[in-house]
Amino acid sequence: MADRSEASLRADIVEVGRRLYARGYTASNDGNISVRLDSSRLLMTPRSVCKGFMDPQMMCITDLAGVKLAGDRDPSSEMQMHLEVYRQRPDARAVVHAHPPIATAFAVAGIPLDRAVLAEVVTTLGSVPIADYATPSTKELPEAVRKYVRSHDGMLLANHGALTLGGDLFAAYYKMETIEHFAHISFVARMLGGERLLSREEVTRLQGLRGMYGIASPAPICPDPGPETDTADCQVVFAPSSPGTRLVTRAQTPGRMDAAGADAEIRLTYRELTALIEEAVRQLKS
Ligand SMILES: [Zn+2]
Repeated sequence: MADRSEASLRADIVEVGRRLYARGYTASNDGNISVRLDSSRLLMTPRSVCKGFMDPQMMCITDLAGVKLAGDRDPSSEMQMHLEVYRQRPDARAVVHAHPPIATAFAVAGIPLDRAVLAEVVTTLGSVPIADYATPSTKELPEAVRKYVRSHDGMLLANHGALTLGGDLFAAYYKMETIEHFAHISFVARMLGGERLLSREEVTRLQGLRGMYGIASPAPICPDPGPETDTADCQVVFAPSSPGTRLVTRAQTPGRMDAAGADAEIRLTYRELTALIEEAVRQLKS
C-alpha cells in the first residue's frame, strides 16, 4: 500500500479519536492512536489530550525507537506499547488503544472473548485474549502485549482496556468496534442464559473462508486447544466438537472444554447448594 500523505493521516487520527470518544470508548484523556508515516517514522497522538477534540497539528512524530522528531507536545504515555506492536508486526500500519466499557469489563473480570459465537468474529479476529495485567505506561505493558500480538490483531489488557492493530487507521479502529460489539453481545447472551456455541467443525469451515475471501490473519485458529496449547502461536477459540452440527447448545465456562463436560456450567439455588453441602458434611461425619 502506498504511503498516504501526512496531512491525510493527521486528519484520519483526528477522525478516529472523535469516533472513539463519541462512542464512549474513551473517557477524559484516555486512549491513544498511532500510524506509520513511512518505514522509519510514526505519527502519534500526544499525551494528556481528549481524543474527541484533537486538532491535526497536535500530533507527534517519532522514530521507531520512540525518539521524538517533531511536535510541540510529548508523545502518548503508552508509546512503548505502540512501539512493541510495530516491532512485532511489520504488517501493522496503525494501532488503536481505548477503554471500551463492556470489553474492558470482560478484561476486568478476567474473561477473554474466545468463545466461538459469531461467524464474522471467528473469521476476522479469531479470538480476543487477555494480556496480563501491567502498570499502564510502564515497560511492563509492552512485555504483556508481546505474548499475543504476533498472533492476534486485537486483545484485552487485564484491568485496563483493549488494543487493536490493522493495515490502516480505520482497519485498526473497526477492530476496536468489533471487539466492543462482540463483548456487548456476549454479555447480553450470558444474561439471557448463555451463548449457543458454533461447533468445532463449523469453526474449521469458517477458517477456510479466510483464504477464500482473502481475510488476512496473523495466525491460524488452534485446531483443538487444550491446556498445553501455546496461545502465543495460534488463536484459541472454544468450540465443542459436534460432527454434523453447526450450533451446540451446551453453555460452557471459559475454562477448558472436554467431552465429559467437566467444566460445563450448572445452576443451583442457595437451598439446593446448602442441601448438597449439608449432605457432604453428614457423609464426612458418618
Ligand atoms: Zn489505557
